[in-house]
Amino acid sequence: VSKLFPGMSLKSGKPYVWVTWITPYLAGIDRCAWKPWAKARYRYDKTSSDFDFAAWTKQHDAMVQRRKVSLEGDGYVTRVETPFQLEGARATLSGKTDLVGLKGNVGRVIDAKTGRATDKDHWQVLVYLFALPLTWLKDHVLTGEVEYESGLVPVLSVSTRERDARIAEVMKMVGGDVEPERTPSESECRYCDIAACPDRAATKAADKVSLF
Ligand code: SF4
Repeated sequence: VSKLFPGMSLKSGKPYVWVTWITPYLAGIDRCAWKPWAKARYRYDKTSSDFDFAAWTKQHDAMVQRRKVSLEGDGYVTRVETPFQLEGARATLSGKTDLVGLKGNVGRVIDAKTGRATDKDHWQVLVYLFALPLTWLKDHVLTGEVEYESGLVPVLSVSTRERDARIAEVMKMVGGDVEPERTPSESECRYCDIAACPDRAATKAADKVSLF
């Protein structure tokens, strides 16, 4: 167990991982492995944010609803916001799919994104494609899609073997006892909500303002 910094406390039970905590790392966008490792085992005070959650929810839910109606028009049975939990030996992997369309043994797994396209969105769906056959969609052939305002994009082409190996590697790291290093960088720390991190990289703007 790591040294506890002020504003952090240990959660009970084995490490618990929410899908979006590891997707930037899976996609190679984030490098700081300590961030998902710490999120999985500590409660922590969060940095303040001006993110407009109500506006995001409205836009996101409208996208999901549009797609749901379209799938149902094509004969799919739909499931919205379905949670899953996968118990590994070291850690629990948990998440919630936006939308799944089912027709016969075919399943389309869709995640709606309001922002600009990024590989971490694809990795989110790839994790769903990994986890759902092990939880509540055991008998379906699944495909994944990311839905942006500009339209649907089929999920990144990654072989099942590569996908499973990468997810297993990251879950092993996040669930493991070896504490990874913190690797601060302005681009990552700026979006990291762990207020207690002692190594946060200052933003250039803050550096500049501190000059006068
Ligand atoms: S603030 Fe930066 S160094 Fe600290 S955990 Fe977050 S990303 Fe890592």
